[in-house]
Amino acid sequence: MADRRKTGLRLLSEKKLRSIHRDLMKWFSGARRQYPWRQTHNWFHLMMAELMLRRTRSDQVAQVYSRFTRNYRNAARASEDPDGVRSILQSLGLNWRNEQMLDTIQYVSHRFGNRHAPSAGDDLTEIPGVGDYCNSMLRSRLFGESRAAIDSNVARIYCRLVGEPYDPEVRRKKWLKDLSGRFMELATAQSNPAARKGPGPAPASPEGLSHAMEQATDPFEINLAFLDLAALLCRPSQPRCLECPLRKHCEFAKSMQKS
Ligand code: SF4
Repeated sequence: MADRRKTGLRLLSEKKLRSIHRDLMKWFSGARRQYPWRQTHNWFHLMMAELMLRRTRSDQVAQVYSRFTRNYRNAARASEDPDGVRSILQSLGLNWRNEQMLDTIQYVSHRFGNRHAPSAGDDLTEIPGVGDYCNSMLRSRLFGESRAAIDSNVARIYCRLVGEPYDPEVRRKKWLKDLSGRFMELATAQSNPAARKGPGPAPASPEGLSHAMEQATDPFEINLAFLDLAALLCRPSQPRCLECPLRKHCEFAKSMQKS
């Protein structure tokens, strides 16, 4: 069997990765889904949104998120009212996750109580419930770090692009981590992380990058673009390849044309 890492990197050369980035972000600028947690400047709210979004659709989370953030502006406030938090979260189901979120709230309140936000040196994966994916989303947003957030949906896109079969464990494979890491590295190469000091749109940089360029090279925006592509076009079944900005790069789409 061909080495999967070699397969991915051979099919997606640097030139092709740059082209995918350009096509993806052009599409995303007109297709992005609007959710309140994508604009928030409150890191606690962003983290809670990411935890709510595990195994739950964004549209379902939106109402619960709004209610939660209206009631609790920080972890300290939420930690004082566990029953109120439970009652807001219960409509999402998954009681085990809700209880885990209460542990998260207690931990964050205790550890970051007197601080506005974590610093780049903090290991966010020590926070209960924050795994690799959530850590990457948070770090790309909070610190502008070039981290690819790979959940099963984003892994499916990469598999289809390189023509590899998808399975739920593939996102932990080295070839996929290498490939997505390389993509993010190239995609953000022109960004100016020093200009981003926290959540929210990046300020104008001294280098004079245009707003569109800053958005296109912002790692958080790139992570969102993959999420939206997976939700709107590259769905688990019957992907909408004819509408997809990546179809000319995609092995799956090519194989469908031939069959
Ligand atoms: S062309 Fe089709 S399979 Fe390929 S990334 Fe786009 S939607 Fe997914």
